[in-house]
Amino acid sequence: MPRIFEIRIPPNVRPMNFSFRNLNRRRILYLCFSGWVTAGFTFFAEESRADTGGDPALKKARQLQREVPLIDGHNDFPWQVMRYADKDLSRRDMAERLEETHTDLPRLREGQVGGQFWVVYPAWRLSEKEALSFSMESFDVIFRMLDRYPDDLELALKADDAKRIFADGKIASYIGVEGGRSIDNSLGVLRVFYRLGARYMTLTHNAHTAWADSSAGEPVHGGLTGFGRDVVREMNRLGMMVDLSHTSADTMRDAMEVTESPVIFSHSNARALCDVPRNVPDDVLDRLRENNGLIMVTFVPGFLSQELVDHREKVRRKRRELRERHPDDRDRAERELRAWRDENPAPRATLSQVADHIDYIVARIGIDHVGIGSDYDGISQLPAGLEDVSRFVHLTAELVRRDYAEEEIKKILGLNLIRVLRQNEEIARELRGEE
Ligand SMILES: [Zn+2]
Repeated sequence: MPRIFEIRIPPNVRPMNFSFRNLNRRRILYLCFSGWVTAGFTFFAEESRADTGGDPALKKARQLQREVPLIDGHNDFPWQVMRYADKDLSRRDMAERLEETHTDLPRLREGQVGGQFWVVYPAWRLSEKEALSFSMESFDVIFRMLDRYPDDLELALKADDAKRIFADGKIASYIGVEGGRSIDNSLGVLRVFYRLGARYMTLTHNAHTAWADSSAGEPVHGGLTGFGRDVVREMNRLGMMVDLSHTSADTMRDAMEVTESPVIFSHSNARALCDVPRNVPDDVLDRLRENNGLIMVTFVPGFLSQELVDHREKVRRKRRELRERHPDDRDRAERELRAWRDENPAPRATLSQVADHIDYIVARIGIDHVGIGSDYDGISQLPAGLEDVSRFVHLTAELVRRDYAEEEIKKILGLNLIRVLRQNEEIARELRGEE
């Protein structure tokens, strides 16, 4: 690429560190092409006013996200391609602004996303064998995404890759595997997943595995089995982060007892604010601090808003009541339920509630243990203010408004995740006897 184009890198992908050499080169370029450059700066100045609407918090948010990569812990765009586009990337062309998904490249750029965990997610109802082949095809979708958009996405394998790829103006693309069923009870498959680039694995999804309880349904193992503990130890040895989202509280506790490395929750919230089994109870949060791990706060409305959870419970009760009242007329029961719901609409979760979960976790266990794990394209409803990936900057702006210090916000955006991944790498080297 001719050097002159370096100056045209849009503001959201500007390299983090300007060296003196770069500055000098810029000055020389300025002298040579001053008219051109002035036109360029005028364009950017206008663009940046349009980007922030004159909101100082949003302006600060955009600046912070130019300085460190925002790394989102959980995006299910590959699932969208697998499930709804017959694995055909041209039917979900990320280069375009897509109607069907929360994610595409133009909106990732608007939201100034610097790093993304793309998720390999086999539907939780699949058998282990089916989950394994579905996972392999999901890896293939991700690799084809990387091949198709090489100017925008680059595979990230190490903690250090995040900043390097971000500085190159691309989105550092990590891979996470959601659901331990995918390994089909084989540590060999787990090791191959690591070689394919998986840097976390969620031990369960919404179904138990043969070796770990999920948060959904009655427990069968009471946490991790012996083999489940071996899975955690092998992940430590590989340097693959143990992801405890979706697991039962006892699985969380068992995993934290066994693990040598910091664990993550790639998309979970605080149970104290929203009381559902999918969220993390206080005693586990406290252990997460001791473990030096990370909880990446998620945008899933049903894990954010207690009002919404209560409303859903009311709907369930109403449905039961109406079915009992009209045992032979299911249609009538449904009709009356619809009318009731029209009169009692569900409260909408909000961006502000995401920030409330961040506040709560920071107050309880400190700033070093919070990140962001959206679950975009893994869910159908989203909180008001966080409708798609372009909206990340608005969450950052909310943190600015809530008076977090710049260094604190940077930790939440990506530095905490980078630290945890690096510690996983270091401990893995020690466990393998390397130095
Ligand atoms: Zn999930």
